[in-house]
Order: sequence, then structure tokens, then C-alpha cells
Amino acid sequence: MLDDFDTAHLWHPYTSMTNPIAALKVARADGCQITLADGSTLIDGMSSWWCAIHGYNHPVLNQAVTDQLSQMAHVMFGGLTHEPAIELGKLLLSITPAPLQHIFYADSGSVAVEVALKMAVQYWHAKGKPNKQNIITTRSGYHGDTWNAMSVCDPVTGMHQIFGQALPSRIFVPAPSIGIDDEWSDEQMNEVRQVFEAHHQTLAAFIIEPVVQGAGGMRFYHPRYLTQLRQLCDEYEILLICDEIATGFGRTGKLFACEHADICPDIMCVGKALTGGYMTLSATLTTSQVAQTISDGEAGVFMHGPTFMANPLACRVAMSSIQLLLDGDWQGNVARIQAMCQDKLSVLTDVAGVVDVRAFGAIGVVELAHAVDMSKVAQQCVARGIWIRPFGRLVYVMPPFVISDEQLDHLLTQVVAFVKEMVRA
Ligand SMILES: *Cc1c(COP(=O)(O)O)cnc(C)c1O
Repeated sequence: MLDDFDTAHLWHPYTSMTNPIAALKVARADGCQITLADGSTLIDGMSSWWCAIHGYNHPVLNQAVTDQLSQMAHVMFGGLTHEPAIELGKLLLSITPAPLQHIFYADSGSVAVEVALKMAVQYWHAKGKPNKQNIITTRSGYHGDTWNAMSVCDPVTGMHQIFGQALPSRIFVPAPSIGIDDEWSDEQMNEVRQVFEAHHQTLAAFIIEPVVQGAGGMRFYHPRYLTQLRQLCDEYEILLICDEIATGFGRTGKLFACEHADICPDIMCVGKALTGGYMTLSATLTTSQVAQTISDGEAGVFMHGPTFMANPLACRVAMSSIQLLLDGDWQGNVARIQAMCQDKLSVLTDVAGVVDVRAFGAIGVVELAHAVDMSKVAQQCVARGIWIRPFGRLVYVMPPFVISDEQLDHLLTQVVAFVKEMVRA
């Protein structure tokens, strides 16, 4: 199952090259099942990091790629346009909050975040307030691995210890502390207001993951935080950027998590599940107010343009993936996954070494007292016939929406056994 060349030469995410953690070799993936090179099979609990919401090797998505391939794989977006970009754009505008009217396509989530931050800074520059250049965010956030995205990740669990001196210095407020099911208190916003009061003249934007803080801690917070943050941002003239890269396309039980708070951001980033996990594509959407201000400003143009901007293959499969989502019972599936996670994982609540068990949308989380020993994960997954990828103290699942009851039952039963074994060790 391991490959010598891979182990010796290929760098994997967040991994040492000299002391790598074993990477299992995959031969194929179909529906919610991953088949390894030796023929053993795993039920997928990860959707390949939030992406593969319809499962793998889906006939409709395969068809979309091959249809598009027979026409063109790619053309530059500078000076040229095409049907997949246009049709995907219409579809995105029809499902995102109405004030968002302009779309910038990019090639990954991190780049969509870079684009969003640049838009915010360029907006204030165009408005004649060039001092509004810094970014504010909450702790426990995650926004990607490129330079500026990294600068707004949690400064402790993020990579600030290594890169801190080299990163632009951002302003952080505490992570939202009122949980999604807890009682709301307006006091939660006191510190945000104080920091806005002190710094608003230098702040371009507040960036936040709506309702679910993903890779920064798998935390679910009260939507009222967003409602009040929206008001405070308006009051202090700070743009609100919602990073929906993990939450977008149904994962939290709404198409976009900002709907839980009934707010519209000034700028919104989408990625990950946008193409159903087929290809890398992201988009940064904004309002006419922001787009027009930038365009009427001194520069007159928005200064960004990735080589693979609006790649036709990616746009075409994104269109099919969104259509597939809208035509199916994604809400029923997400509710079913949430209920089953709550039900099955709850047996861990009283287990020593387990700090918290929670589920929201199609996301189930078990928080442990101590970090999981990553060197044991691969072998455990193979033995149990599941695919999960814990990080730190968090064991979590976010399966494809189409996972069957039997597959989900198997996945969760084995996650429970896995956790019990981990806390015993
Ligand atoms: C994954 C993620 C990103 C980064 O996306 P990449 O495609 O990995 O660059 C940004 N923000 C959030 C919330 C994410 O979950």
C-alpha cells in the first residue's frame, strides 16, 4: 500500500520529507468508497477535505468533463470568454445572496482569499482612504496557506510561530465563544466594538468563516455573532468578508452558512465543493458597490489575473455539480448525516479522554484531551475500512452527502472504536 518513490520524493501536506507519515496508495474511488492499490476498501469520511459532496466517479460529473474536453480544455480569460464561465456565473448569482453581483474566478481557496483581501484594500484606496489597509479577524480561524491567507489564520494553531516575523501583522479578536446551541448574549460583541473603535481608521476588512470555524478548531458558533458583526462593520466602515470555502454548497444545512444569520457579506469566497471535488476552482464574489468603487478609482482596474482563471473544464464541472446539488435532496441528506452523527457519536461523551462531541450539518466532531498519534492513523483506517484524517486533538467526519445509511453506520461505528482505542493508548 505504500510506495517507495512516493515516500522518498513526494512531499505531502504538512508532512516531513525525512520522517513522513505513510500515505496509502489509492487505485480508484467510486461513490463513497476508496479502493487502495492492494484491493482493500475504505468508506470515505472526509469528502477529500470538504470537496467531494456527490462522492467519487459520478457519471454526471464525468460526462460534464468529457463533454467540455471535446470542445476546449482551456483558453486564457484575458480578452476571451466562454459559455462555462458565463453559465456558472449565472448559476452562482442565482444561489448566493442577492447583493453579490460580480464574480472573480481564481484557482484555489487560498487565492480566492488573497483576491478578497486585495479587493478590500483596493476599495478603500479608490475611496480616498488609503490608510484603511489592515485586516481584522477572529482567533481559531483558517483561511488558507498562502502568505496573506496565512496572516489571518489563528496565530497559535496556525503557522505564525514559524513565519510570524515575516507575515503582515493583523489584528485578532477572541474566537466567538457562544456555541451554536447556547444562549446568546450581546456582551459577546463588546471586545469587537472596542477594537473597532480603536483601529477602524486603519482597517479595510474583517474576514471570518461563517458559523463553522473549520481547520482552526472545528468550532460551531452562534449565528447572532454574524448578525451583530455585520452591523458593527457597517457602523465602523469595515468591509465584511465571509470565507465560505469550507461551508459553501450545503455542508451546514444551508446552501451558504451566512444564511443562518440572514446576512450578506461585502465579499464572499467559495471553493472546495464548488466543482464537487473534480478540479481546483474558486470564486470571490462582491457587491456592485465594491466593484464600482474599485473600477472608478485611480487604478481603474482590479489588479489580479491568474493564468488558469475561469478554466473551462473546472467551470463546466462546477455548473454540473451545483445543478446536481440543487436537483437532489441535499437538505434531507445533510439533516440525516447530522442526526446520525449526533446519535452514534454521543456514546463517546462520557469516555475518559474525550472533551467534547458535537455535530452540525454534515460535520461530526470528537474533541480529545490529547493529540492523536498520527503514525497510527493509516493502519487503523485500513484495519477498520474507513478513511478519516484527524488533526491535533480533533477526530472528525464530513462525508459525501450521498453516503448511504449502511456506509454511514459503518463509518461512525468504526470512528467510535478508533477514538476508544486512541484514548486508551
Ligand atoms: C481550505 C480552506 C481554504 C484554502 O483553500 P485551498 O483551496 O486549500 O487553498 C481557505 N479557507 C477555508 C475556510 C478553507 O477551509
